[in-house]
Amino acid sequence: VINFAAGPAKLPPTVLAKAQAELLDYEGCGMSVMELSHRGKEFTKIIKDAEADIRELMAIPDNYSILFLQGGATTNFAALPLNLAGPEDTVDYMITGSWSKKAAEEATKYVKNVNKVLPKPANGFTEIPDKSEWSLSPDAKYVYYCDNETVHGVEFSTVPETNGVPLIADMSSNFLSRPVDVTKFAVIYGGAQKNIGPAGMTIVIIRNDLLGNAQAITPTMLDYSVMAKNGSMYNTPPCFAIYMAGLVFRYLIDNGGLAAYSKKSDAKSGALYRAIDGSDGFYRAPVEEKSRSRMNIPFRLSKEELEPVFLEEAAKKGMVQLKGHRSVGGIRASIYNAITEEEVSTLIDFMDEFKTTHA
Ligand code: PLP
Repeated sequence: VINFAAGPAKLPPTVLAKAQAELLDYEGCGMSVMELSHRGKEFTKIIKDAEADIRELMAIPDNYSILFLQGGATTNFAALPLNLAGPEDTVDYMITGSWSKKAAEEATKYVKNVNKVLPKPANGFTEIPDKSEWSLSPDAKYVYYCDNETVHGVEFSTVPETNGVPLIADMSSNFLSRPVDVTKFAVIYGGAQKNIGPAGMTIVIIRNDLLGNAQAITPTMLDYSVMAKNGSMYNTPPCFAIYMAGLVFRYLIDNGGLAAYSKKSDAKSGALYRAIDGSDGFYRAPVEEKSRSRMNIPFRLSKEELEPVFLEEAAKKGMVQLKGHRSVGGIRASIYNAITEEEVSTLIDFMDEFKTTHA
């Protein structure tokens, strides 16, 4: 099948095949990769290589720590304010969809002033307002935003300017989809289960000078400085997820790096949006062109009652997990790195055919 899920999502088949081969006997050591001690020499090499490879892939400078954590991106909705702001401080949140909204709500538990930078959206989350409409606080400890809103399909095309205030990006659903200038960020973080590997791991990339100021109530497991000091191994880390992520990093390096995947994402999403926009209104993408995601492409059928039929017929042809998020409905095609241009073409051919049959 072609798996268009938003996450957990498709992984490169070559990576899965390598993991399968190593599952019972990791590099001849007689143990499964899942059975390795996290302090043993085999796993030490796995985590060190994974860190070196993501550092190379994203050109992460030495003054940033890379943490491989448990708890999902959602846990970091709490960990970020706890680590980077005091209880009486002000923090800025740009709310462009349901994930940044949730992150802001969680922050209100730990920080007094959670300022919503953007005006309330008039038409749901269908665009990122222009900079002229932002109300950044002069004294914010940080500005938080979600680089790609997975549910609504809204993505920033450039890094927001924050007048020197530390910037935090949730890149859960567009991690490793394009080169980013890491030096523009205080923190980049995201769950692994979309573009990186299996669920169960969150990657946090944090500038070292921001470590060491966690609020006193911060649980040890959420204290980034503890995790940084212990090389993500204060306790047992998500070993298998780290191993899988390491395989994906290596695979991406060997296949042209992030610049190559960015080009592919442009081509795949461009073709899909053209098919939607050129369908004489049969399909409709609700997000404004300038804010459209290259990763998660939500669309509606003009006859909404045909949407279940669309999903059913797509599934019969092996195209699965195309249902929109339960909060918004409709259709959503998630096309992360592992989805090929051919697979997107197959979807477009099906959409054309469906339109001919049902228009
Ligand atoms: N942020 C974004 C952009 C997401 O897409 C998701 C999950 O889909 C989350 C955060 C929450 O991630 P997790 O389920 O790993 O907590």
